[in-house]
Amino acid sequence: MPSLDCSVRNCYYNKNSRCSREDILVEGKNAKTTDATACDSFKIKNDAFTNSCKCDTSPNEHLKVACRAENCVYNKKCMCDAEHIDIAGISASKSEQTECGTFRMI
Ligand code: SF4
Repeated sequence: MPSLDCSVRNCYYNKNSRCSREDILVEGKNAKTTDATACDSFKIKNDAFTNSCKCDTSPNEHLKVACRAENCVYNKKCMCDAEHIDIAGISASKSEQTECGTFRMI
């Protein structure tokens, strides 16, 4: 499982630049560049979601990363095989404004 750093500070799951989920999904079926990828698991940090979510909120260093970016060298049978990935989108307010900074075209 990759280790993961995430700069998406508006995401509910972001804790100290780590993700508190056990897994995420990266979108980008036809991506040829990082900005055509996105973290589909992003959830905007707001009171309504926070109050309804019973998720574990401790940060995880390693997590499962499912990935639809078929053109990435690290995509192995729709799972990410990189040792480390960076999810970016410091001011993102929706998943389309996030990206996988580790994407590398085949
Ligand atoms: S944007 Fe994705 S990787 Fe970052 S904290 Fe949110 S769910 Fe986790």
